[in-house]
Amino acid sequence: MPYAWQPVCCNIQVAILSMNYRLLCYLLMSLTLSGPAPAGDADGYTQQRMELMRIIEQDVRETSAYLDAETLDPRVMKALAKVPRHRFVPDSQLRHAYRNRPLPIGHGQTISQPYIVAIMTDLLKLTPADRVLEVGTGSGYQAAVLAELAQQVYSIEIIEPLGKRARDLLNKLGYDNVETRIGDGYYGWETHAPFDAIIVTAAADHIPPPLIAQLKPGGRMMIPVGSRFMTQQLVVVEKDSNNNVTTRLILPVRFVPLTGDH
Ligand code: SAM
Repeated sequence: MPYAWQPVCCNIQVAILSMNYRLLCYLLMSLTLSGPAPAGDADGYTQQRMELMRIIEQDVRETSAYLDAETLDPRVMKALAKVPRHRFVPDSQLRHAYRNRPLPIGHGQTISQPYIVAIMTDLLKLTPADRVLEVGTGSGYQAAVLAELAQQVYSIEIIEPLGKRARDLLNKLGYDNVETRIGDGYYGWETHAPFDAIIVTAAADHIPPPLIAQLKPGGRMMIPVGSRFMTQQLVVVEKDSNNNVTTRLILPVRFVPLTGDH
């Protein structure tokens, strides 16, 4: 205690000085332990996001036989490097925000694993003019990634508090090209159909016919298919210009189930 010799009448001042001294020590210590945020690191998470990008690239290389590609579209990687995943997870999960794994977001639901978000987004092959439907807004993270790449995103969530929280957050972050609603996404969003691309982020035991109907000719849908306790497969559904529909299995995945009364 550097001021311990001060007379008693100065005790309050001593306490304040000593507090400031401790605060200074603490700040210096945290700087030494964590290092200063890199220049241009507006939210303090740039380094963690970059490390996550490196891990996704590695996972993509390791699964290239399934994906038929060694790398993902640089536009997709740029979008993932930009979207602040830490804003989409609950405070209790903040320290895991940039780990390559799904995390709980409440109501028994999860924010998807970043590698899965990356490959599903990549396989949609979005262009900047596209209008995309997402089924399963969840935290809003996938919607934000899509919003970086497409013109307009429509996202449906069946659990009201999740849908409302995601909508508020997306608004706050300035994603004004995302429209959300609460409802059963099995039926799609008729008023905005047809869509250039559809992404379903919960596993269905079959491909919902209303979603196939709402896909444009030349459009693509990504959907995990399979029941909760069986192996699910990530499926690409393609509709050609003559409305012929083909499906292709990509790789085994594990998603929460698509719920609802359908
Ligand atoms: N895309 C989300 C994200 O980025 O955080 C992750 C979604 S989580 C894996 C799946 C979500 O689908 C859950 O929030 C769940 O409530 C929602 N869901 C399940 N069935 C649904 C349905 N029939 N219609 C709309 N949303 C549904």
